[in-house]
Amino acid sequence: MDITAPVRESLAPSRRALRVTSKAIPEHNRLHNRSLILQTLFHDGTMSRADLARESGLTRVTVSDLVSELVTEGIVEDRGPRDGIRVGKPATLVGIREDAFHILSLDLSGDERFIGVVVNLRGEVLHRAETHVEGKTGEDAIALVIDLCRRLAELATVRILGIGIGSPGIVNDDGVIEEAPNLGWYGLDLGKRVAEDQGLPVYVGNDANAAALGVHTFHAASGHSLLVVTIEHGVGAGLIIGGALVVGDQFAAGEIGHLIVDEGGELCACGRHGCLELSIAAPHLRQRLRAGGSSERAAILGDAGRSLGIALAPIISALNLNDVVLCGPPELLDGPLLDSARDTIRVRTLSAVSNGLDMRLAKGGEDLRLLGAAVLVLSAELGVS
Ligand SMILES: [Zn+2]
Repeated sequence: MDITAPVRESLAPSRRALRVTSKAIPEHNRLHNRSLILQTLFHDGTMSRADLARESGLTRVTVSDLVSELVTEGIVEDRGPRDGIRVGKPATLVGIREDAFHILSLDLSGDERFIGVVVNLRGEVLHRAETHVEGKTGEDAIALVIDLCRRLAELATVRILGIGIGSPGIVNDDGVIEEAPNLGWYGLDLGKRVAEDQGLPVYVGNDANAAALGVHTFHAASGHSLLVVTIEHGVGAGLIIGGALVVGDQFAAGEIGHLIVDEGGELCACGRHGCLELSIAAPHLRQRLRAGGSSERAAILGDAGRSLGIALAPIISALNLNDVVLCGPPELLDGPLLDSARDTIRVRTLSAVSNGLDMRLAKGGEDLRLLGAAVLVLSAELGVS
């Protein structure tokens, strides 16, 4: 049974939450309820139908009906009776069958390599492949992406739910890459190109937003709001507020790399002086560390952390964010840089804002963007995020 066509209407919760919907019709309710069941099983794990009804707020009859449908489709499976001694017949547990589908997930943010993985529905990486970019841009870079997808598709051993791609640059709501200057892509519907080759649904999102989705979905943060700052070749941020990804009016939310943090600073490629990217992007930092030698290491990283704190303090204050996650090379970010960024934010914000601040390094490094790209597929196809 083809489940992709009707379920796709459920769309990502982040968009659905803001969409003004027309009159609810029964089929929409059904798709919504189905997503709710999958979402509950995805986050809370195996449980009985009665627990599922309680957790989801749906009636037992609705839950039973939809679970039967999902079992028939092979997405959910019976896991046998609950362990332990209880009075009466033990309840049968149900859970998501993690190998019901595989997802192909690509991260195009690296300046040297495009990375791809095959993951199951639990976000476990089953296979990996990569391709060297070697400075390729435009059509040549598109060909690399298509080739990487073909190689990944051969590694998948069950039906593929879809392909998720995290791309650098500005990506609009339809997944069109409006501009990714490093790859020479402007107005590129990469998803359409890949879909034409693979015959699968393809979802493209910004790489920093993908990192935020990866942290939010697979590394449960303490709340529903989260700022993920990616510090690699460039600097970007992904923002989740109240469980919804914030993309912004021009789809450029989180483009913090060219905020000016040092007005008398060096000239940046964007034409301004003293951009955040010059202070903390990995290549710039490494260059300064090489020039400065080991005696200046802590001071150089501390200065970089201060720049980051200056840029983030107003964002954290405006939104009263508790969870801030840095994603990038730990040898650069952990230690003086992180400490100095935290201190700078504390000094520049009211204690009501900074008391709850939990600023930390991401666990899982580069895989977060890949997992987040998989979430694009999960949320669009199954309503799970
Ligand atoms: Zn700049």
